[in-house]
Amino acid sequence: MIVCKFGGTSVQDAAAIARLVEIVGTRAAEQPLVVVSALAGVTDGLLRLARAAELGGSSHRDRLDAIVARHEEVAGAFPGTGEAVEAIRAEARVLARELDAVAGRRVTPCEMDAVLSHGELWSSRLVAAALAAGGVPARWVDVRPVMVTDDRFGRATPYVQVLNARARECLGPLLAGGVVPVTQGYIGATATGVPTTLGRGGSDFTAALLGAALRARRVEIWTDVDGLMTADPRIVPSARTLAVASYEEAAELATFGARVLHPATAVPLVRENIPIVVLNSTRPDRPGTVIESSAELERLGDSPVRSISWKRGITVINIRAPRMLGAYGFLRQLFEVFERHEVVVDVLASSEVSVSLTIEDPSHLSLVRRELEELGEVWVDEHRAIVAVVGIGLKHEPGLAARVFGAVTPTCIEVISQGASAINMTFVVKEEDGPDVVRRLHREFFGTC
Ligand code: ADP
Ligand code: ASP
Ligand code: MG
Repeated sequence: MIVCKFGGTSVQDAAAIARLVEIVGTRAAEQPLVVVSALAGVTDGLLRLARAAELGGSSHRDRLDAIVARHEEVAGAFPGTGEAVEAIRAEARVLARELDAVAGRRVTPCEMDAVLSHGELWSSRLVAAALAAGGVPARWVDVRPVMVTDDRFGRATPYVQVLNARARECLGPLLAGGVVPVTQGYIGATATGVPTTLGRGGSDFTAALLGAALRARRVEIWTDVDGLMTADPRIVPSARTLAVASYEEAAELATFGARVLHPATAVPLVRENIPIVVLNSTRPDRPGTVIESSAELERLGDSPVRSISWKRGITVINIRAPRMLGAYGFLRQLFEVFERHEVVVDVLASSEVSVSLTIEDPSHLSLVRRELEELGEVWVDEHRAIVAVVGIGLKHEPGLAARVFGAVTPTCIEVISQGASAINMTFVVKEEDGPDVVRRLHREFFGTC
């Protein structure tokens, strides 16, 4: 079997879903399992309507009506979608009443996940009906009883052994019987059935988890670009598509801002050695990028660098503590502060008496800062971006740092780091300098920007 995951833009309207139907049709002999995201922009729309409901009034109802109308419009392009539309309308009526009751208070993370899960539930209903209308023996499957997770709402962790067993039990017989299951990315549920989500962009991760569970031959990620590229084409219009990349490179790039893949996508697939193929749903004839485990990957021209990514919205926390000098246990104390407040640290650089680290989510910053001040002097730099230069070739590349830093001069760079895997070099710049730094690095390593 194979997994075909379609992102938001690949299901955004009737034309996109018609392309999906064609693509899945070409894979019929390979037992495809279809995983879909919400229609482009719908997850953000649901988030906004939940926030609107907190303020009271009725604007959340108007927003919800608009989202439902968008689904109805798509459905109108395909025969036999009446049942899907009825289900969407009925669920929207329940959601509207739940949101009415929110007025005047914050939506809890648990409630938010329930709201957001409608995006994928509704898009998958449309896609299943459109596939059936196109002659594909598709069946809508609710992923929630399969994707059993913990209850960390907004970034729930799936219980892999449970989901492996459930996926084989629920989806295996359908696939074996020639049915094409159509299910949701991004969403799951706790063991007691409370809806959860896996974190933004999480549909790729769902596809990988189901692919590993069902021992897929490959996991296809259908999106709006030709594959994994040498940089985000929105920043570097001349960016080139990579024919191949390793799991490690893809994970580093995704962690540091290459939105094309969720950072955890490769994790379930590495052990089973299942390739990920990133493909463009508007140009299905293009070869895309194959992401697999391989020590002998081709180099792009003679560049040691495979791709450059960047991530905005980063906060740098600096701690200076003279007592760190020659002491042991200091870093443990430092990281316990982050652990207590469940704050994820991305990049770290340290000197004899100081440590700098980056965080993405500043919501617990003031609490973290107060506790860190007990360890030393603390200062915080906001509005920063991480830039990552990634490539297996970096391992054996003398003089690489000189090329990187030469290319970005005179931009001020901070928190320089290269991990033990030695396939990436990351550093921090002011957020407004990010795009220009990426373009200059692209010109240095790929000759264009
Ligand atoms: P989907 O809705 O299909 O999940 P996303 O918007 O999440 O798609 O990801 C696709 C986008 O990722 C592209 O439109 C592109 O702008 C962005 N992107 C960032 N870095 C890269 C990269 N290195 N290669 C390809 N795309 C990238
Ligand atoms: N719809 C979700 C999001 O917008 C998940 C995904 O698209 O992968 O984050
Ligand atoms: Mg995505």
